Amino acid sequence: MKNLYLCPHCHSNLNPSVKIVLVASHRQRKGLILLSPQLGNFQFVIDDHVAEVVKAGTKVKFSCPVCAADLTSGLNRDFAEIYLDSPDKKPRRMLFSRSFGTHATFVDKGDVTATYGEDVEDYDRINFFGS
Ligand SMILES: [Zn+2]
Repeated sequence: MKNLYLCPHCHSNLNPSVKIVLVASHRQRKGLILLSPQLGNFQFVIDDHVAEVVKAGTKVKFSCPVCAADLTSGLNRDFAEIYLDSPDKKPRRMLFSRSFGTHATFVDKGDVTATYGEDVEDYDRINFFGS
């Protein structure tokens, strides 16, 4: 089943084809970034114009390509937040690290928080979704 991602603000589909399309910006540089829709796959493609100014640990600002809303999570400013559509049509919150090179993704699955990436242990998952 294909994972469908939505902007939490305008609810536009962020992966109409395969990759999740977001806007990444840092220090006046702005460009598109493509992320894998597969949870735990941290491969991405980023505009060279932005890549030139980011290095390991740089916090990238992510925004929606449709409504331009800042996707920085209200739960934790170190993360960006989008929605993952689910079969019961109740979107799940999905948070991923804004730090370049940090592999940590959290998905709120109600009773449990699913985690992806080798850096998740650096974060206290209890705090994430207020459980
Ligand atoms: Zn949007």
